Amino acid sequence: MIRFDRFVVVDWSGGNDTGPKPRKDAIWLCEHGAEPEYLRNRVVAEDRLRALIDDAQALGQRLLIGFDFPFGYPAGFARALTGQDDPFAVWDWVERNLDDTPKGNNRFALADRINAQFSGVGPFWFNALKQDFTHLPRKDTRTGHGMSEHRACDAMAKGAFTCWQMGGAGAVGGQVFTGLAVLNRLRSEMQVAVWPFQKLDAPVAFVEIWPGLINSSVKSAEALGGIRDAHQVRLLARALSALPPARLAEMLDVNAPEEGWILGLGFEDELNAAAGLRPPPLRNDCFALPAGVDWTPVDDALAMLRDRLHTVVGQQDVALTDARGRVLAADLLAKRANPPHPNTAVDGYGFAHAAMADGDNVLPLVQGRSAAGVPYDGKVPEGHAIRVLTGADLPDGVDTVVLDEDCTADGAQVAFRGGLRRGANTRKAGEDMAVGQVAIPAGTKLRPPELALAASVGHGTVPVFERLRVAVLSTGDELVEAGAQAGAGQIYDANRPMLCSLAEAWGYEAVDMGRAPDDRDALRAILDDAATKADVILTSGGASAGDEDHMSALLREAGAMQEWRIALKPGRPLALGMWNGVPVFGLPGNPVAAFVCSLIFARPAMSALSGAGWVTPEGFDVPAAFTKRKKPGRREYLRARLRNGKAEVFASEGSGRVSGLSWAEGLVELGDEAADIAEGDLVRFIPYGSFGL
Ligand code: AMP
Ligand code: MG
Repeated sequence: MIRFDRFVVVDWSGGNDTGPKPRKDAIWLCEHGAEPEYLRNRVVAEDRLRALIDDAQALGQRLLIGFDFPFGYPAGFARALTGQDDPFAVWDWVERNLDDTPKGNNRFALADRINAQFSGVGPFWFNALKQDFTHLPRKDTRTGHGMSEHRACDAMAKGAFTCWQMGGAGAVGGQVFTGLAVLNRLRSEMQVAVWPFQKLDAPVAFVEIWPGLINSSVKSAEALGGIRDAHQVRLLARALSALPPARLAEMLDVNAPEEGWILGLGFEDELNAAAGLRPPPLRNDCFALPAGVDWTPVDDALAMLRDRLHTVVGQQDVALTDARGRVLAADLLAKRANPPHPNTAVDGYGFAHAAMADGDNVLPLVQGRSAAGVPYDGKVPEGHAIRVLTGADLPDGVDTVVLDEDCTADGAQVAFRGGLRRGANTRKAGEDMAVGQVAIPAGTKLRPPELALAASVGHGTVPVFERLRVAVLSTGDELVEAGAQAGAGQIYDANRPMLCSLAEAWGYEAVDMGRAPDDRDALRAILDDAATKADVILTSGGASAGDEDHMSALLREAGAMQEWRIALKPGRPLALGMWNGVPVFGLPGNPVAAFVCSLIFARPAMSALSGAGWVTPEGFDVPAAFTKRKKPGRREYLRARLRNGKAEVFASEGSGRVSGLSWAEGLVELGDEAADIAEGDLVRFIPYGSFGL
């Protein structure tokens, strides 16, 4: 199997040099891992390609270069032009006959010359020059030339242009001529094999690619700004380099000896996934604690997590109907103003404010009306009024509306009191959102109101982060599945249903990894599996330093364990580590501690990983309905609920008391310092709702 070391993608252009300033529709080149390069003309581009090929050969590397123009014409063309079926005969012909400079070329004359060899009119068309050509029609009036419009592969490439069109928006005819001439020179001078016409046994392979295959990825990237062509070459180079070699080999395995083929056709989903805007992985030491730290205060622990965690998921486009709960990946700009046109906010009569008298007004009505979706397209003369219905565009000549209830009308006239202000009962164009305004900022979790807003400013799909995948695993020999037979010494696994549903409540995809026995090898195998299936792993149990605390032992063994001894009750040490590049939150086994640690630590951390940024729960101060004396040096969370405006706390602070979690409707947070709380003292209550539940 061929393995390439380097991947380069080129977005070619048949256009003329327009200067040194990078712009779209020029030549762009990107090697995977480097920045896109703007190449201002074809002479510069040819030199750059030659240098790249030289460099790869000198280093003994295998280089794949993709070009975004057809390497062949529809079947039969090669023979008609050159008398042979060989596509290279066409390449040679084009190279021999094309005169190309950065400021212009003879491509139209060439198309004219070729057309002359065909019966009828065509197959080439379009002429951008003043000069007329006998055989090159300006409009598509071609007939009887006997060539088919598309190659076999073009039929599968929705939106691809035909090689016959020599100019006009999106046309590729000129690109093919100018591109083939350059490639033909390079292939004859250097060790290059051209796919799919030749066996790829040379160090360098030229392949045909088409950015349209990764359109959705390009659009997501474009939403963040920058030049489209630059995104195209960068993302395609990344996608090709990210494909498993066996998969790439499969894509290269086509038989199209004359027409050529677009690499990756039919593999669009895979290419898009490979192009996916994946952020860099987390740093391996992201959970490292400063040396010598013993007990870490909760706020310090949170600040460290906040500092070191970032988005780990890629991006995708989803339809609005599927977007609830997803996190917006790029600022959503209003494509259209809301409202798009001034309209009336009520049912009533519209007129020009300038003609209104202070006292009683009696205005003649024009025939017709303006209704929502059915605007009146005439002009309403000053001094006249027109029937308008809520949501209707204001007709020309109308800037003010009087409410139905404030007037009498008989079909011919409308009477009402003056004194309305100009613009009364109307909505201005763009008063809600102007075109180009940021309607929803990146990082917003999309709720029903955001879906309404996105729709009203013209978006049917939105760029979102891929859903964070959260693997959930319980550990302990004593655990059995809820509902199963429990023997002596066994208890039901309460944490998994709780943690899976927490993940789902927060909008993530829960990946249930089941239960692991207190056995290091079994646990290791499950962690390996979880790391391939999820972006973050939540485990519970075995997180301390005891004999059977395999979770912490394993993470330590992998060199990635950090035992965060957080000054928090309930919550024994939290084990944090990286397993095969995936962050692991080793939560305490006690359900109460596991729950509290999830709300306090896992929730903001996972929010940061998901693209939604760090979150801090809102609480408020209420009088206590309890008394409590608390030691200094640690934060405490009590299961609590509000009754009669006061915070009650659960009778027992025992961390095995699951019923207290259910009894509660939130947590009372007691600060790190000592406290002696009497009834009526203010305490901070954070409702479950503030934790996104
Ligand atoms: P560990 O952290 O493994 O020492 O567990 C602490 C306590 O939590 C022990 O009493 C365990 O039996 C209990 N425990 C651990 N995991 C779970 C679970 N998934 N469901 C219910 N209790 C658990
Ligand atoms: Mg255990």
